[in-house]
Amino acid sequence: MHNSTQAKSAIFPYRYRRYIVYVCVAVIALSLPFIQINGNQIFLLSFDHKELHLLGTVFSVQEFYLMPFLLIMLFVGIFFMTTLGGRVWCGWGCPQTMFRVIYRDGIETKLLGLRKRIDNKQKAPDFSLMSNKLKKLLAMAIFSLIAFTAAANFLFFFVPPHDFFAYMSNPFEHTILLGFWLGIGLFLLFDATLIGENFCVYVCPYARVQSVLYDNDTIMAIYDSDRGGAVYAPNGEKNPLAPKKQNEANECTNCVACVKVCPTHIDIRKGMQLECINCLECVDACTSVMAHYNRPSLVCWSSPNAVSSKSKVRYFRMKTIGYIIVLAVIFSILLIVGSNKETMLLNIDRNTQAYSIRKSGAVHNYYTFLVENTDSKDHKFYFEILDNEKLEIIAPSDPVSVRAGSKSKSVVTISARSPLDSALEDKDLLEHIVIKAYAVDDDNIQVERKTFFVYPPAKDLRK
Ligand code: SF4
Ligand code: SF4
Repeated sequence: MHNSTQAKSAIFPYRYRRYIVYVCVAVIALSLPFIQINGNQIFLLSFDHKELHLLGTVFSVQEFYLMPFLLIMLFVGIFFMTTLGGRVWCGWGCPQTMFRVIYRDGIETKLLGLRKRIDNKQKAPDFSLMSNKLKKLLAMAIFSLIAFTAAANFLFFFVPPHDFFAYMSNPFEHTILLGFWLGIGLFLLFDATLIGENFCVYVCPYARVQSVLYDNDTIMAIYDSDRGGAVYAPNGEKNPLAPKKQNEANECTNCVACVKVCPTHIDIRKGMQLECINCLECVDACTSVMAHYNRPSLVCWSSPNAVSSKSKVRYFRMKTIGYIIVLAVIFSILLIVGSNKETMLLNIDRNTQAYSIRKSGAVHNYYTFLVENTDSKDHKFYFEILDNEKLEIIAPSDPVSVRAGSKSKSVVTISARSPLDSALEDKDLLEHIVIKAYAVDDDNIQVERKTFFVYPPAKDLRK
């Protein structure tokens, strides 16, 4: 299996395949905030409007019960991805790795010639030369355009793009947003141009946890020591018996092409290491070296079990199938809960005054109804009391208009028709009632909420 994979890698190196994936990821990330379904973003977590957009559906802050499902999916998804593909995210999808490729390989190496070769990432530029210092500054200036564009793009998932541009046309009135934009942009600039892969090795929390999720069927960059020869002893020290050059039993030429190309400065021949970001540059390097000998690469993208048993990688195993089932269950729950979303919300607050006795003898209770129209269309709402002939809503007399995605407060008065028939002689009576709120122009939009009505004592009504 990995022989055919290696043959493909020799024809079309992993580096170029990663570049294609990077372009796709960048196009998706840049365009996603601008794609709208029913006038809403595919994903937006707006603290400003207190709403979540998910696949074009808007959820208000009161419906954030969906967030735990999303977070559980995120974490289970990360566990699944790591068990199956190791640090595939780091090499193929992480913005940090993409920015480093753009900055180090694209701007510093190809554009400005500050570094000599992409395939030697160990050799740092000579900064004793003034020309190199100037090139470094120029490279940082060029990358700053990408850093601030990426920072704005990231913020588009929290502030809709049209709001962002409107706010930034008057930045000093929106200093918090400006601060976030500048802060994130400067961090990306500093990270990609100065911190580099040290971030992956020393800072990134994912690097700390990923190794516990690996098993012997997880795919990763792996050196075939059976073919190449054990260059390192099991304790990680250089093996004194390691072959100095290639022979029949030990195919590794010790050319260290796989070491020189490694952006995290490790030697993959030592075995799986925390620092490996799965960029597969070492696989490409060894593929080129071994091509001279008409042999497959000694470093391949495979699993320890597949390499030792010379068999196929086992993608489907108990652990990965378990993750797939858990993800499918959570996703189904998310779909069911999301599709049962209420298209209006109602909060009822009673006023502090329990009741008022009118000159006519009528008893009134007062409430504040907060109606939220979470639908994508404007609606008119009205209210009724369910299963209660003794009470009636006397204000407001007309339906309340609420624009799509907006809220409206109404002071509602409920009156008892014949309070003496219900009241107790010498103490208040509290009667539970159910209020139905509904859109007068759409039968499908309605909610019910419980509250109560208070009758004064009958002796007070007779006064
Ligand atoms: S060992 Fe280095 S070059 Fe090879 S995949 Fe890991 S990080 Fe990349
Ligand atoms: S590139 Fe291949 S042959 Fe060269 S040192 Fe690395 S494993 Fe050995």
